[in-house]
This record gives sequence, C-alpha cells and structure tokens, in this order.
Amino acid sequence: MRASRVLGVAACLGCALANLAIAARDGDSATLDATAAAGAVATGNRCPGNAATFAVQGSTLCALIDAPAQAIPRQRLHGWIERSARIVADYYARFPAPLVVLRIQGTAGGGVHGGRTINDSGLVIQVSVGRDVTSAELAEDWVLVHEMVHLALPDLGRRHHWLEEGLATYVEGIARAQFGNRDIADVWAEYRRSMPLGLPHAGEGGMDETRDWGRTYWGGALYCLQSDVAIREQTGNRIGLQTALRAILRETGGYGATGDIDEVLRIGDAATGTTALQDLYRQTKAAPLAPDLELLWTRLGVPTDPKSQPFDADAPLAAIRIAITVRQSEQRTPKGF
Ligand SMILES: [Zn+2]
Repeated sequence: MRASRVLGVAACLGCALANLAIAARDGDSATLDATAAAGAVATGNRCPGNAATFAVQGSTLCALIDAPAQAIPRQRLHGWIERSARIVADYYARFPAPLVVLRIQGTAGGGVHGGRTINDSGLVIQVSVGRDVTSAELAEDWVLVHEMVHLALPDLGRRHHWLEEGLATYVEGIARAQFGNRDIADVWAEYRRSMPLGLPHAGEGGMDETRDWGRTYWGGALYCLQSDVAIREQTGNRIGLQTALRAILRETGGYGATGDIDEVLRIGDAATGTTALQDLYRQTKAAPLAPDLELLWTRLGVPTDPKSQPFDADAPLAAIRIAITVRQSEQRTPKGF
C-alpha cells in the first residue's frame, strides 16, 4: 500500500499540475501533454460519443477507456468508477463536479497506477490501470478517490499545492472509511505511520515554501487532521473539517475555478463558526511548525499499531477520533467529549 501510494501520488495532480503550470509559464514541451490530455474533454454538458456515461447524484461522469484497457472486463471497471464516485459524493453531499471525463489507460500487469487531474477547457481525470487488474485490487484502490477529491477544491496555485494534495490525501482515507470501503484501523495506521513524513526538516521554512514531497502530501494531511481536531474541540464535536470542505465546494464550485487560499479558508471557517483553518494557516504558512505527534495520538487514543492493538476508548479526544471516521450508516448526533 505504502509503496504503491508513493508511486501513484508522485504522478498525480500536484506533480502534474506543478509541471503544467510551470510549463504554461515557461513554454516548455510539457504544455503539449496538457493539450493531449484534454483532447477528450466533453463539449457542453454531454459526454464524448464513445464514452460510457455514469450519473452520480446529478453529476455526469464520462469514461473513455483506451484500447489496452478494453481487455479489462467492462463490468469490473464500471463498478470501480461508480463506487469511487459514490464514496466522494457521500463525503461532500454531492459529486464535486457537474461533468468530468475519466480517461482510463491500460498498462501492463495488474493494479491501479498513477492518476492526474487536469483542468483545461474541462475537467479530466487520467488513471492508468493494469490490464490484469483484479476486482479485489479495484475494490481497495485509493487513486481514483484521491483524484476525485481534487475536484472539490479550487486551483490554489503552486505555493499552495500542499493544501490541494494534503486534502486529497487526508480525505481519501476518511471518505472510504465512512463509506465502509476501508478499514478504520487501516486509516489511522497509515496516518500514524505517514504523518511524520510531513514534519519540517532542519532549515526548512513554512508550508507555502515547501517543495518537499513528504511535506506537500503528509504535511498537508497533518494540517487537515489538526484543523479537523481543532474544529471538533471548538464545536463540542458537533461538526468537523467535512462541514468546512462541503461549504468550500458549494461556494467556490471546486476545481473548475481558481481560488485564493485566504478566501477558501475563510469560507471553511465561516461554515464551522470557528477560525481554525485560518489560525493554523497563519502559524504554518511561513514558519516551520512541528506539532507533538505522539501527544496527538495519545489524546486521540490511537495506539502505536492500530492494526493489532485496541484504540484507547478513554483517551480525552477518543470521541473526536471516532466521529472523524465513523461509518455513515452509524452516524448519529455526535456525543460530546
Ligand atoms: Zn493528488
């Protein structure tokens, strides 16, 4: 899981967009890749004629499956696309774009490989899938969910890729756990294992200055976790980051638009009645901040190895940890803590 995540994420939106944005400014050959990638963009509100069409909560997904990927049983691919879209739609209370084209590219071997999300005259998600991919591999896939989460946040520019990638990294696990597609212990195990990758190294500056892969993805995810906990602490665990992200999508329209990070965070905070997002951004944007992760895990009741050890139900923030990843079917009025 970890190896494939590194492999896949390294090829996904942040890197792709960083390259494309730089290319657009510098005029290098990567711009041609963007044009080619966008060649399958739907016109108006309709899918290209050769696309398989999916309707998910009022949105339209157009799947273009290339010749090598035609070897994969169609039903298997369609089930994966629909499930991924429903996971993201349930998290955001709607699918985060009215229309998106999915370009499914077949490669050798099995598994799901890198993805990227592009906005160039229309929203396009590209994902590479091994021709021998199994139903089990598709059921456990995180790549397509990660890319679809990118649709819910405006393009914030190169300096703020850490928030774009951090959100996609953080929300993927939670959205899948809430849907029942991923084991809750597995999500916390990955957070516990990978969040340290997001801590600043000696001599590094703030989040807006980072170019480091680990800090972009997992430092961004840590910002999200800290914000989620702060919002829940300040609202008696009534609401969390999910409420802020739904408002940001609703008011900005998501990735189809460009956005200003200060405005995006202000919208999120207004939705929760806190200043958690803006406060943490103010502290971390220009200065390296290394929170005490061990203390955070202890307060949340996350054991050293959540896959084999029980969570601490008596931890001071146990109710917050439970509320973050609780299955949707079990959600009810949250208890205080
Ligand atoms: Zn990404």
